[in-house]
Amino acid sequence: MATTDGVSNGMTEPCEVCGIDTLHEVSVQLVTEGGEGENARYSREPYRVRECQRCGNRESKRMNNA
Ligand SMILES: [Zn+2]
Repeated sequence: MATTDGVSNGMTEPCEVCGIDTLHEVSVQLVTEGGEGENARYSREPYRVRECQRCGNRESKRMNNA
């Protein structure tokens, strides 16, 4: 299987907007953070992005919650 920047698949998860379990399109994206100031430190953090296929609500959640 090939690995690309965007891993996409459908998952059934609870949607806050719909209030029920709905089909979500889930992908993982690397978001560049930082970059402001002299000590520009670019860190690319993986975000889990999901989009409800019923209402279109889109959420992104940082995966590194250390
Ligand atoms: Zn929804």
